[in-house]
Amino acid sequence: MELPEVEVMRRDLEKEVVGKRIKAVEVRPQRNAMRVIRRHARRKEFSDRLAGKKVTKVDRKGKYILMYLDDGDVLIVHFGMSGQLIRGQKRQSLPQHTHVVMEFQQGGDMRYVDPRTFGEMFVTAADELGKVRELDHIAIDPLEDTFTWQEFSYELGRRASKLKPLLMDQKFVSGLGNIYSDEVLFAAGLKHDRMSDSLSSQEVRRLYRAMRETLQDAVRFRGTTLDDEAYVDLFGKPGEFQSELKVYGRKGLPCRRCRTPIDSIKVAGRTSYFCPQCQS
Ligand SMILES: [Zn+2]
Repeated sequence: MELPEVEVMRRDLEKEVVGKRIKAVEVRPQRNAMRVIRRHARRKEFSDRLAGKKVTKVDRKGKYILMYLDDGDVLIVHFGMSGQLIRGQKRQSLPQHTHVVMEFQQGGDMRYVDPRTFGEMFVTAADELGKVRELDHIAIDPLEDTFTWQEFSYELGRRASKLKPLLMDQKFVSGLGNIYSDEVLFAAGLKHDRMSDSLSSQEVRRLYRAMRETLQDAVRFRGTTLDDEAYVDLFGKPGEFQSELKVYGRKGLPCRRCRTPIDSIKVAGRTSYFCPQCQS
C-alpha cells in the first residue's frame, strides 16, 4: 500500500467506523499475531485499551492511520508490506492470516490481515503521539494542502540526488513507491536520472503539480491493484488506477502521448519505466 491506498482506506474508515463503539477485540492465538501488536506486552493489554471505546475521528499521517477514541487514546495502524483492514460479519469465516478482530457494538467487525506481519497496530494516548518516533519524522505528504511548491523546491535543491531514487525515499516524500514515482516523472516530463538540484523553477513546478495530480487521481480511482492482488480496499475490492497507468509495467507498448515504445531500466534494484521521447 502506498499513500493513495492508505488515503482511500482512511476515507472508507471515516465513513464506516466513526461513531461506532468497539465491543471486543480479539488478538488471534497464533504466535505471529503478537508480532502485529509488538509494542504491547500482552494480548489483553492491547484489547483492554480498545474495548468499550468509541471511534471519534480517523486521521492519517504519511502511511499511518490514526483512529481517535473517545477516551483520549489513539489506535495506530501501519500496513507494512502486506497488511489489510477488512470489514466483516461475525458469520463470515476469518481470512487466512487474520491477526486482530475488532467487533463493533452496532454489529459487524473489522479484521487486520497480514501474511508477512511487517505491519502493526498499537494504542497510545493522543497527547503522547509526539513520542512516537515514526510519526515525528513523516516526510513531505503530497496529498496535504499544506504542502507548497516553495517548500518542495527548497528540499529538491538541498538533496542534490537523482530524481527516481529521491522520489522513492520515504524520508523525502511519503508513500510514492516504485509505481507512482514512475507515473509522476512521466507526468512531469522528467527523466529518472535528472539531478534534483538541476531543475529549472518551471520543472520544479511541473514535478510538484505531477505529484499532487497523480496521487489525487490514484485516490479517485481507489488505488492500484496489480495482478498479484496485493491491495484490496476495506470491502475487499481491488482499485482501478492500474488501467490508468501511463508507463509503469508498459515496456514495449506505445506511449499514450507520443506512441514511442515505453522503455525500462533498473534503478536501485527496481525496474523503472519511462518514455524516451516525452521525458528528458
Ligand atoms: Zn511519449
